[in-house]
Amino acid sequence: MRLFEGTPFDRPLRCEQCGELDAQCSCRPAEKELTPPEKQTAILSTEKRKKGKLVTVVRGLASSENDLSALLLRLKTVCGAGGTLKEDCIEIQGSHLDRVGETLKKTGYRIS
Ligand SMILES: [Zn+2]
Repeated sequence: MRLFEGTPFDRPLRCEQCGELDAQCSCRPAEKELTPPEKQTAILSTEKRKKGKLVTVVRGLASSENDLSALLLRLKTVCGAGGTLKEDCIEIQGSHLDRVGETLKKTGYRIS
């Protein structure tokens, strides 16, 4: 008897959107060619915005080589703060250098 026989894990994977088997599904765009985080250096800083509000800024990571929207979401969750993506620049509201740096390091990025 196989390990997952008779359990939900025994079923072939299907696309959650179209219900087709993963092999036949064409609704997901091809994965981007991403550059490994280990080969990239993120530049962290805090900057002042309107009304003296601080934002934590991540530069040096190209959107063509990284899933920056996923990274933004992760940083927002870790910091419990709002944030935006501006081209190749991630901004998190507030001063979160420690948390942002730690999260990027865990992901594998080098920090400058
Ligand atoms: Zn599909």
